Amino acid sequence: MNTKVVKVDREHPDRELIECAGEILKQGGLVAFPTETVYGLGGDGLNASSSEKIYAAKGRPSDNPLIIHIADMESLERIVREVPEEARKLANAYWPGPLTMIFQKNENVPYETTGGLESVAVRMPSHPVARALIMSGGGYIAAPSANTSGRPSPTCAEHVEEDLSGRIDMILDGGEVEIGLESTIVDFTSEKPVILRPGYISQEMIGKVIGEVEMDKGLLITDSTVKPKAPGMKYRHYAPKAGLTIVQGSAKAVKDYINSQCRSLEKNGQRAGVISTDENQKFYQAAVVKSIGRREDEEGIARHLFGILRAFDEEDVDCIYSEAFDTPQMGQAIMNRLLKAAGHHIIYLEEQKEESK
Ligand code: AMP
Ligand code: MG
Repeated sequence: MNTKVVKVDREHPDRELIECAGEILKQGGLVAFPTETVYGLGGDGLNASSSEKIYAAKGRPSDNPLIIHIADMESLERIVREVPEEARKLANAYWPGPLTMIFQKNENVPYETTGGLESVAVRMPSHPVARALIMSGGGYIAAPSANTSGRPSPTCAEHVEEDLSGRIDMILDGGEVEIGLESTIVDFTSEKPVILRPGYISQEMIGKVIGEVEMDKGLLITDSTVKPKAPGMKYRHYAPKAGLTIVQGSAKAVKDYINSQCRSLEKNGQRAGVISTDENQKFYQAAVVKSIGRREDEEGIARHLFGILRAFDEEDVDCIYSEAFDTPQMGQAIMNRLLKAAGHHIIYLEEQKEESK
């Protein structure tokens, strides 16, 4: 298949182009497009065969459900059994935006889209290209992140091309995304709402609208017997080819530890890589040092994380060390992705505690 890659203006997407992309979706084809979080791989969410094509193109396990993207509240009412009051409040506060909510599905949603579940994940993105495409493609676009399953989510069209060129009909290139981490997921199918995946919309931001909300226990504990409730969170994800280790502790302890590791690797003829912040970059003595941005700029750190993990796959390194990024607002979301990429391999220097799963 020849994948068409077309540039699209973020604020004023060309009408003819969006109509053409929408037509591909209505005919059961696949179009990758920018959202404010990461690039999505879109297909008609109410068409079972489109969803099957999405799983095939990504190599995604078929029990890992897709998120349906909508452009207005009326569309939500047509695919779910009910919308709880608290979900309505969250929608008022944060839709359109980087928030996904899970509801009981109705008969309009095929099981192919929900990975066989009775529930459906729904998001209303704010990105103008995403909104225009949803409206022109029939109103219900199932769209997981547009990467090969297991690789870091794409934050620009080039990442999508790397993974999916030749496997999908079209890529809309709207440049770099704004947030760079996938949406926050809140589940409304149990008695109390629960956060299944942290994201830009933080636990605190949700708490301000509907009162305190818990994180899914399967997310917080690195014990592999406690399974996360979002099926996708249990899979190995984002991992670069070279093994990644996170090092947490005071800035000095982290630099000393990483440098001593790099020296001993070098003695054995191996090459090390480091994911650093701007402030610390010059202190590392590794073969490859890449900065994720300034430590105070947590939005920058979030936006650069997946790109840096991908960039290390192009480097000839045997292992990678990363600083930890427990930033105030997005720290939970950033560390959730980084820990997954590291297979939960983190070294705590101050407590002299090492955990490896
Ligand atoms: P992605 O679109 O690639 O960011 O992945 C979507 C995430 O949402 C995965 O972790 C899924 O497991 C999760 N998800 C989608 N639908 C549901 C659902 N009905 N129940 C629980 N988790 C879901
Ligand atoms: Mg994904």
